[in-house]
Amino acid sequence: MPSRRIAVIGAGIGGLAAAMDLALAGFEVTVFERAAAPGGKIREVQVAGRRMDAGPSVFTMRDVFDDLFAEAGEHFDAHVKLTRAHILARHAWSSHERLDLYADLHESIAAIAAFAGAREAKGFEAFAAQARQVYATLRDSFIRASRPSTLGLVRRLPPSRWMELWGIAPFTTLWRSTSRYFKDPRLRQLFGRYATYCGSSPFSAPATLMLVSHVEQAGVWYIEGGMHQLAVQMAAAAQRRGVNLRYSSEVSRVCVDKGRVHALQLAGGERVPADAIVCNSDTNALASGCFGPEVMSGARMTRPSARSLSAITWNMVARTSGFDLAHHTVFFSADYRDEFDAIFRRRQLPDAPSIYVCAQDRRDGSPPGMPLRSPMDMPTPLAANAERLFCLVNAPAVGDTEKLNSAEIDTCEARLFQQLARCGLSIERNSTPAVTTTPQDFNRLFPATGGALYGPASHGWRASFTRPGSRSRIPGLYLAGGSTHPGPGVPMAATSGRLAAASLIEDFASIKR
Ligand SMILES: Cc1cc2nc3c(=O)[nH]c(=O)nc-3n(C[C@H](O)[C@H](O)[C@H](O)COP(=O)(O)OP(=O)(O)OC[C@H]3O[C@@H](n4cnc5c(N)ncnc54)[C@H](O)[C@@H]3O)c2cc1C
Repeated sequence: MPSRRIAVIGAGIGGLAAAMDLALAGFEVTVFERAAAPGGKIREVQVAGRRMDAGPSVFTMRDVFDDLFAEAGEHFDAHVKLTRAHILARHAWSSHERLDLYADLHESIAAIAAFAGAREAKGFEAFAAQARQVYATLRDSFIRASRPSTLGLVRRLPPSRWMELWGIAPFTTLWRSTSRYFKDPRLRQLFGRYATYCGSSPFSAPATLMLVSHVEQAGVWYIEGGMHQLAVQMAAAAQRRGVNLRYSSEVSRVCVDKGRVHALQLAGGERVPADAIVCNSDTNALASGCFGPEVMSGARMTRPSARSLSAITWNMVARTSGFDLAHHTVFFSADYRDEFDAIFRRRQLPDAPSIYVCAQDRRDGSPPGMPLRSPMDMPTPLAANAERLFCLVNAPAVGDTEKLNSAEIDTCEARLFQQLARCGLSIERNSTPAVTTTPQDFNRLFPATGGALYGPASHGWRASFTRPGSRSRIPGLYLAGGSTHPGPGVPMAATSGRLAAASLIEDFASIKR
């Protein structure tokens, strides 16, 4: 009978959530993380002596984390300080076309009416109601359920609710479904963009992804000290539960004996016995042999053409003028279809990318100077009006083929500034160069992904059902993270970690019986 030593590979959000639950259930848990800090994609970089978030910035579904902490008798917000955002995001198409969406649905309806007319505002009301319905249908039957199958989904709903499954429109694309609600192409673009939260194209992703719109409407939160604090506090909570966290410890092999995992090996050669392992790396790392040949069959390989979006990101300190940035601002390209054709079909950077800017020192529409971070993080004050900016454009996940050269990346950067200027935003950078992260860099940070940030793309109605669940094909090896069910995004990755822990606990209980 197995004893209770569990190894977790990776201190991403899925690995940390799994470690927290497993330690609470009485397992002896060690987390091995190749980086020097927890968080994985929730990472920080330094620019001009300042720490800045270089990963996710939109924090939603806080109830996932409330529950995770509450189960150990702790309050999430005692450790992670949250403020609810009033403005969900600001959107711009040119210097005079701007639209804010708000936490208050009625404020958003009024804003859309002023921006595009009463008919479009009615369309938004219907869209928001439908997104709410999709979320309600899928939350317990799919998102929080451990086996991603169509049959499982039908079984989990009572027959009286089967018609809801038809209503969530899984067979139509998000883009096509936006035409049912909006005539204004700008609004189709805005609401179609939610597909990119799962690293997918609105032209290929199923309409069910409109649920992301509901998730945002239910609450976007600022985390004091930045998103990275979430990972830091989860790691601290795991330690309070007895988890041993080993950073700068790369796992190079998972060892199998008599068909079951029984140890792992670190890159330095150390061998660590383990009765079960939770793997939080992208499942492609497993499938492509990063953990040795014995466990390659533990997950299916994602073809390069089926990968989700990568990105090019810039972290910088700069002065801005001409456009009042919110904390989250999106600048849309003029040709959305071509943007996604370039990325997913031609595997190139788009000529005119849409741009996401996170103005990390601003809350809602407030000017910089109201820092979200504690003064401890600010050893020297920023130059007058200078603020920390994180800019992101979507890119193809070709980071393992070196297909994007530095000239292309420079051109992309020049286009970024042109596009922002077209919308009225001038950025005057300080003398410290921006920290640029490319698909090649993401591929180095998250091996065997090509830089894809969200696992396989959610293209077609079947995609969500083909993500691996928490049990791999190898006994004792469990999977957690954004490339597994229920999918990418911070709360989803945490949910996957909890599902992996639950499967492991269930399997150990049945072995014991
Ligand atoms: C730029 C960017 C913007 C994003 N924006 C948002 C957003 O606004 N909102 C949102 O909700 N989500 C967003 N996401 C997605 C979200 O960050 C991820 O889905 C989520 O954090 C993934 O968590 P994970 O559990 O899969 O672990 P990951 O973050 O993928 O971490 C996996 C960990 O495993 C470690 N590891 C891998 N191999 C080994 C090994 N051999 N040995 C030891 N350790 C190993 C890695 O170092 C890493 O720390 C964004 C992602 C990026 C990159």
